[in-house]
Amino acid sequence: MSSCVAYFSAEFGIDETLPIYSGGLGVLAGDHIKAANDLDLPLIGVGIFYSQGYFQQRIREDGVQEHLFPRIDPLTSPVKPVLTSDGRPLSVEVPIADRKVVLTAWSAVVGRVTVYLLSSDVDRNQEQDRRLTDHLYPGDPDTRISQEIILGIGGVRLLRALGIRPGVWHLNEGHSAFLALERIRELSAEGTSFDTALEAVKASTLFTTHTPVPAGHDVFGLELMDRYFGDYYWQLGADREKVLALGRIGDGFNMTRLAVTVSTKVNGVSKLHEEATKELLHRWMPHIPKEDIPVDSITNGIHLGTWLSPGMKALFDEYLDNLWEKKIADPKTWLPIRSIPASALWEQHLRNRSGMIERLGLPIAAPSVGKTLIVGFARRFATYKRANLLFHDLERLDRIVNDPSRPVCFIFAGKAHPSDRPGQELIKKIVEVSQSERFKGRIFVVENYDMEKAKALVQGVDVWLNTPAKPMEASGTSGQKAAVNGVLNCSVLDGWWCEGYNGRNGWAIDGATEGSDQERIRADSAALYELFESRIVPLYYDRDEQGIPTEWVAMMKESICSLAPVFNTQRMVDEYWKQLYAPVMTRGRYFAADGLEVAARVAAYKRFIRDNWHEVRVGRTGVSSLRVTKIGLTMVRFEAEIALGPIWHKDVKVEAVGSGKNGIWKTKLTLAKSLDNGMYRYEGSLFIDSDSLWLAKSNIRVIPVSKDFGNDFEMELTAWGDT
Ligand SMILES: *Cc1c(COP(=O)(O)O)cnc(C)c1O
Repeated sequence: MSSCVAYFSAEFGIDETLPIYSGGLGVLAGDHIKAANDLDLPLIGVGIFYSQGYFQQRIREDGVQEHLFPRIDPLTSPVKPVLTSDGRPLSVEVPIADRKVVLTAWSAVVGRVTVYLLSSDVDRNQEQDRRLTDHLYPGDPDTRISQEIILGIGGVRLLRALGIRPGVWHLNEGHSAFLALERIRELSAEGTSFDTALEAVKASTLFTTHTPVPAGHDVFGLELMDRYFGDYYWQLGADREKVLALGRIGDGFNMTRLAVTVSTKVNGVSKLHEEATKELLHRWMPHIPKEDIPVDSITNGIHLGTWLSPGMKALFDEYLDNLWEKKIADPKTWLPIRSIPASALWEQHLRNRSGMIERLGLPIAAPSVGKTLIVGFARRFATYKRANLLFHDLERLDRIVNDPSRPVCFIFAGKAHPSDRPGQELIKKIVEVSQSERFKGRIFVVENYDMEKAKALVQGVDVWLNTPAKPMEASGTSGQKAAVNGVLNCSVLDGWWCEGYNGRNGWAIDGATEGSDQERIRADSAALYELFESRIVPLYYDRDEQGIPTEWVAMMKESICSLAPVFNTQRMVDEYWKQLYAPVMTRGRYFAADGLEVAARVAAYKRFIRDNWHEVRVGRTGVSSLRVTKIGLTMVRFEAEIALGPIWHKDVKVEAVGSGKNGIWKTKLTLAKSLDNGMYRYEGSLFIDSDSLWLAKSNIRVIPVSKDFGNDFEMELTAWGDT
């Protein structure tokens, strides 16, 4: 099994009967697993079996969120114990502070793909250790770091005990990044040096980040690290400083930094999020221009088989090609949607609406079905998602929802993390508004949001609303689930919607991109009201003789045709395979072959470069000539004297880099002459738009390169000229 991908995630939303997810990250992981199975890819999941899962939410009459923690009974859950060949529970041990904690595992099987879920709830452990895996995302740092040790280190040990040797290690978020330390330890125990082990591990690891803000990253204090890893550092074949340096930011150990350091590829989950991630990592590597930070993106998708309503699926089966489910990512698959009679699509949508009203027990009278515009907003109540944007101007909202001939209802659902007070405050405010006289029967709050309720909502409302503070929504996926069901998105142009919106398939809340939080709330909410008043409500109530909103239905078709082929996990996992898994697998093998030969060579090379980099210096530079061409371009010639010390000139790349009106430009300089004083003269030229020339600032930089590096910034080293 050395050609398999091990996919590590702190949460998995595979099925509503296994509540070990908190939101989009986990549901995405579950959908990733299902798509890997559909595509028959060799992937296994590693996570944690939380004995009490994520909490169950009750919302009191006064809007206060209560947290219930029922135990998940493995015997009635879709999991089986992982056993040894002689039928006993398989167990591994992990070091947690000065204790040894025993872990067993459960397996959740999705077709041919298995997800292994670790548990510390084992008889042999002390009571305190049995409780470590009770809850998802514990607030207290000791439990948190213990869980991440269980996931990262325990996960590697479990795979070893099962005889699985993955060729690719995928960190879905930074929570599992300790797995890299464990893999270094394994190699160190076999006699490999730390540096070589690090290169071998890095070559076969990739990291998907989901969190565009530093506040969302796990950071452990150094004294906490010492408490948990004091006896472990030395087992990696390095000293404390060297191990901590892998993830150190200031006086904390940052799991996102660790994940970046130990991965050969880093990706965000939408194009916009790629930019946000570059910006974020640029803070840690200020000498590398934002544009050069090596981060890619693969935009998230959803698993259609999970989220498409059975009724819609039957309709698609009728009108689409027989094999449509195998060709979801082909836009042509979806063209016949346009020939579904408007009445058939609308009636199916109305059945989904009634189904939702019934499943959620909403007090919306049956006769008004189809005669009240229903808008859904459901996701985690994290403050950046701004669930209260709609309530900025209650007078204006009152006029929108209470027009007797064109009523509008809003349904809200979502959990706030038990330690997220501001998130819980949001719920309370919305509950209060929903109970006030003028909003009774217009605003509903549904408690205990989960995958089951998500299905009902994304299939049954008319409009799916999303109002995050841009660019905080890395991707978002709930709107993608709505789209395939013919539910129209109305969203801030953040995350995936920035790529999905085409002007005809939903609405963009085009508010403010700058200014204080308050200013943006004012602008975004005004844009939101304006959309409802002048576009959404009129379109919904514009009916033909049979009562069908024909323009609306045309928009539903446009939404399905344009969004379903792109924002699905078939396309997504296929991209992961081609762009990340396959190349990383090849790279990992190349580094490991012949007793880690390449890993050792790269480690030695990096050590040499690092030890001598202080001698690299950009000396005299000049823009030596200018020549204007007829077509408005100017040829700019650069020259630079570079000192390299003992570093060979073929081991560096010299570039002129500038910033103009279209971002940065760069051009490679080539070695022209070796000078007497141990310096080299480099020269190069570039045609540049004459207009932008005087806007351009340029400088010369030197970067260490190697054909064995994953990218030019692998060492995060550059030497710049003085400016
Ligand atoms: C899809 C899903 C999410 C993600 O919603 P976003 O709007 O993308 O944040 C969260 N929770 C559940 C239960 C989901 O099914």
